[in-house]
Amino acid sequence: MFLHYADDLRLGPYYRDRGPCPSFRSARPTTLATEDPPPETAVPRQPSPRASYAPASAEPRPVPIIQVSTGVSLFEQRIENDSLERIREDIGDCTRCKLHKSRTNIVFGVGNSKAELVFVGEGPGHDEDVQGEPFVGRAGKLLTQMIEAMGLRRPDVYICNVVKCRPPENRLPERDEINTCSPFLLRQLAVIQPKVICCLGACAAQTLLGTNQGISRFRGEWFDYRGAKLMATYHPAYLLRNPNAKGEVWRDLRKVMSALGLQPKQRR
Ligand code: URA
Repeated sequence: MFLHYADDLRLGPYYRDRGPCPSFRSARPTTLATEDPPPETAVPRQPSPRASYAPASAEPRPVPIIQVSTGVSLFEQRIENDSLERIREDIGDCTRCKLHKSRTNIVFGVGNSKAELVFVGEGPGHDEDVQGEPFVGRAGKLLTQMIEAMGLRRPDVYICNVVKCRPPENRLPERDEINTCSPFLLRQLAVIQPKVICCLGACAAQTLLGTNQGISRFRGEWFDYRGAKLMATYHPAYLLRNPNAKGEVWRDLRKVMSALGLQPKQRR
């Protein structure tokens, strides 16, 4: 049994040797994150139909045991002469999965093609589908505020999703849709070669880490993703419904800032 209560008190986590687990590569921060207040985000609450944004409520926060695939690094696995333009061309007017039937626009990704920081969300919502750009709706506005609180601007980072077409009624992307679309995400990451990948919500984290564990078990922890540092945090849509979780997300973002040598934006 794990000592969940200690973890709940933020004294943990404790490790237990489960025998061989050679490919687990979680780099844990050695210091506690500063307990700074979250950025000002006064955004109204509204329910979201996407279940994966939410951590499993009854789930404790024991040791994250995630088998991170020991794939080649982002620096080695590039397709020769690959570029974001070429990936977009390869996607074309995609009909590879059923999501194409109801989409308005393919939402490829936006931002700095040489970004040190990439945010990966789940899939476009209504506003993104209409505008063809990721994270432009209410959750997107909150993400923009989070980025600015980190002392960055939206064009400094790169923002994309696991699936490029909107799932109908904002349902979760299904396994076959993720399997069909995620190779394009992997190529985007291989071209950009970011220092840090920040997964927004369970779908992105589970896809890149190859796990089905609940995000609350491993959010805020560092993982190695093919040579880049990867951290998962809660999705901004989850924060819109659960503003109390903003403190946890802000602590995660502070760790991302430390990894990138960023100072928080000064409040005036
Ligand atoms: N939620 C996502 O995961 N991605 C978007 O682009 C918008 C909302």
